[in-house]
Amino acid sequence: MTAFTYAPAPERVRPRLRERYGLFIGGRWTAPEDDRFMETINPADETRIADVAYGSTADVDRAVRAARKGYERWSALKPADRAKYVYRIARTITERSRELAVLESLDGGKPIRESRDFDVPASAAHFFYHAGWADKLEWAIRGGASPQPIGVCGQIVPWNFPLLMAAWKMAPALACGNAVVLKPAETTPLTALALAEIIAQADLPPGVVNVVTGDGATGAALVDHAGVDKIAFTGSTEVGKRIARSTAGSGKRLTLELGGKAANVIFADAPMDQAVEGIVQGIYFNQGHVCCAGSRLLVEESVHDEVVDRLTNRIRTLRLGDPLDKNTDIGAINSRVQLDKIRELVHSGIEQGATLVQAECELPARGFFFPASFFTNVHPSHRIAREEIFGPVLSIMTFRTPDEAIEKANNTPYGLSAGVWAAEGSKNMWVAQHLRAGVVWCNTFNKFDPSSPFGGYKESGFGREGGVHGLHEYLTLA
Ligand code: NAD
Repeated sequence: MTAFTYAPAPERVRPRLRERYGLFIGGRWTAPEDDRFMETINPADETRIADVAYGSTADVDRAVRAARKGYERWSALKPADRAKYVYRIARTITERSRELAVLESLDGGKPIRESRDFDVPASAAHFFYHAGWADKLEWAIRGGASPQPIGVCGQIVPWNFPLLMAAWKMAPALACGNAVVLKPAETTPLTALALAEIIAQADLPPGVVNVVTGDGATGAALVDHAGVDKIAFTGSTEVGKRIARSTAGSGKRLTLELGGKAANVIFADAPMDQAVEGIVQGIYFNQGHVCCAGSRLLVEESVHDEVVDRLTNRIRTLRLGDPLDKNTDIGAINSRVQLDKIRELVHSGIEQGATLVQAECELPARGFFFPASFFTNVHPSHRIAREEIFGPVLSIMTFRTPDEAIEKANNTPYGLSAGVWAAEGSKNMWVAQHLRAGVVWCNTFNKFDPSSPFGGYKESGFGREGGVHGLHEYLTLA
């Protein structure tokens, strides 16, 4: 990182920002009932970007009521007409893509290259894909049944892919004829609020989409509201369990996309150049703030030293710094709370006897940063091998046989994703079939497509987002 110099190339587009954001309810911007606001800051320099409304229980109630009215109009529209609105949202995201990318990096700390080339186009792709489904939903359900929307959907998203997670939830809900109340994460509300502007630009009927910013209490008010028919939650396993308990017996539909501790399994015959890039992509993408990050590397013992040497060299070339610089590979950690959590877990790894390897680099004087890191000599019982670090920190372990690889990979309470790297197709397929993970990538990692269902087993949650399976989560046959 400091081994060579390069010319900084900061993104110059400045997004349209307001001093203060209200709540988007019933198609209008409104002030929060008790006039409370919270700051959203830039994690790369800790400066304030804007004030954002803090949504109370009363605000959530207003939003749910507005959504009910919106639902009545939206569900009565011809499906082909709904499709046009959803398509218009996709088009507008594309038109405003550069501004959205800057906003995402500014508010969340991720490198602009990722927001620009991944988050924003993938968000638009979800709306384009689902616009195509709106008038073909009978084909989504087997047996010729006539699927109906569910009603008002409360959608709660985390801070790691703020716009994309909103798109994953909102696009299928709207295509299926539901109305939405979206609750963005407290540290990254800005692209969800820009999405509200886009909803207004696309001229959706009032109340079909409502955006209520706030914190966990705002989310809990949405979960507990009797007027909500479905909750779709992406976030931590801890909060997911709480939501499962509080919705039990309420009749609300529920989908949970929770945490992960994915195994990335490297066999000795794997194409090694690609595998090392796959390891890097698997753990350092978005500073490791990725639920499906390949955070446990399982390497066949005979190539362990080679993989560690290559990885040591590779992380030296990753550039850490300003998220808005187009050359940056590792941006800012999303918040001080998350940085402290990463530091605490890394400390536990050292205390428990693992060996830390870190790219030597100068960290910026302000902001929340953590260098690309990995641990060797990791035991499966170490906290760094069991708990989600959600940062740029990899735990490396070894195996001798495919059976041992599978046993170690499945030795986790999570079951969201996994990777397999091997030259032989049959070995890839055999291992993939035995991994208990919702998504398994073979000779690649962190690849996504709107037509492909995503979701977990065990403590990674239930339900699927994307593809035909994802439509089922927003439809009922009643
Ligand atoms: P979090 O659970 O703290 O918060 C997620 C969202 O829930 C936020 O909007 C928050 O305000 C809200 N919330 C908090 N308490 C709540 C409550 N009691 N009731 C209702 N809502 C509440 O998670 P986070 O720290 O924002 O996100 C990181 C976590 O999200 C990681 O564990 C990560 O693995 C997970 N994640 C999972 C996926 C997936 O698809 N499986 C995708 C992205 C992130």
